[in-house]
Amino acid sequence: MRSPSARLRIGLALGFCLMAVLGALATGAYVSQSGRHLGADYAALAGDIVRAQEETAELRLALEGLMRAPGDSFHRQRVGKLLWLLPERMAGVRQALRRSELPRTDYSEVLGDFDQAAETLEALEGALAREAPDAGTVNQLGGELESTLAWAYSRLLDSIHGAAAEQRRLMKRLSLAVVVLLLLVLMVAGALMLALARIHRQWLSLHQLSVTDELTGLANRRRLWDRAQQQLALNRRDEGELSLLLADLDHFKHVNDRFGHPTGDAVLQAFSRELARLSRESDLVARLGGEEFAVLMPNTGIEGARRLGERLREATASLALPDRAQGHRLTISLGLAATHAGQEDLDQLYSRADTALYQAKQKGRNRLEIHTNS
Ligand code: GH3
Ligand code: MG
Ligand code: MG
Repeated sequence: MRSPSARLRIGLALGFCLMAVLGALATGAYVSQSGRHLGADYAALAGDIVRAQEETAELRLALEGLMRAPGDSFHRQRVGKLLWLLPERMAGVRQALRRSELPRTDYSEVLGDFDQAAETLEALEGALAREAPDAGTVNQLGGELESTLAWAYSRLLDSIHGAAAEQRRLMKRLSLAVVVLLLLVLMVAGALMLALARIHRQWLSLHQLSVTDELTGLANRRRLWDRAQQQLALNRRDEGELSLLLADLDHFKHVNDRFGHPTGDAVLQAFSRELARLSRESDLVARLGGEEFAVLMPNTGIEGARRLGERLREATASLALPDRAQGHRLTISLGLAATHAGQEDLDQLYSRADTALYQAKQKGRNRLEIHTNS
């Protein structure tokens, strides 16, 4: 069962991840939407418009020149060329506007001006086609054409400058959005890594708990079994020796009966400390349950293991006991068995050590018995 605070933490983490994902999606959508606007090339359109403005002014000047000197071929050619160029330019701008990202409402009036300019142009061409064009009419139509187009083009330039400014603002916001997106991604990655590290830590401490004896902090039976299996497998290859020493506290029931269960617990803890202190680092010391302990000794033959067992037996007999058990003399019985090159399995080795322990009890306790294989 999960505790309410764990559920709350998981809920918060899930909520955070969901918000981060939604934030990333919204930012991504904004970035792609903005990208379309940023792609618009307003500089080229502005260039076309400025050229069209110049050509319109040029036409009026050329018309005035032609009216002053109707026979002048330079002015005639210039007027002819500009009359061809102006509609071309308007058609080009019209097409560029349609392709641009500018909203149609920004330039619909300009298109109306273009239509009006086209009519004026037609009238102008008609006036010029006459045998003796009337200078007043021609200049007036030229002036009208210039003012219509000048007004249309200048409004168009305003719109374009506005759009370009908006484009720059968008660029800034876009950079900010990309930074936010990156931060969100980093935060999600960080949160995931933290969660994984936490799960890993919890798994480690759970695993540690599952192989540790709660009262004494020694290894428990499961850990002893795992380690012994590994060691036997290793010994089958390196032909090494493995000893198993079992220790059982003598008449421990009396300790509980005389001094109470809590003192009995404290005695078990004191004995465990002594057992751990006397054994080597490569040995595995375990509490098998109740008042029964084991020492697994890799690469140790029967003689080395016996020496440790005897030292332990003597040290226990003179161990200063805690609490109300002070002054009580604790003794232990020990059973020892060893195997070579992993020839036996763990059950066989354990059973022989247990038989030796039984003999030690039978022979009067506070002694060590060895079960040899022969
Ligand atoms: P023997 O010399 O034959 O081993 O006698 P014994 O009294 O030690 O053995 P017995 O198996 O009759 O009793 C073991 C006692 O160990 C009984 C039980 O109260 C006590 N014991 C087992 N586990 C614990 C524990 O965790 N704490 C305490 N305080 N006592 C325990
Ligand atoms: Mg016992
Ligand atoms: Mg006992």
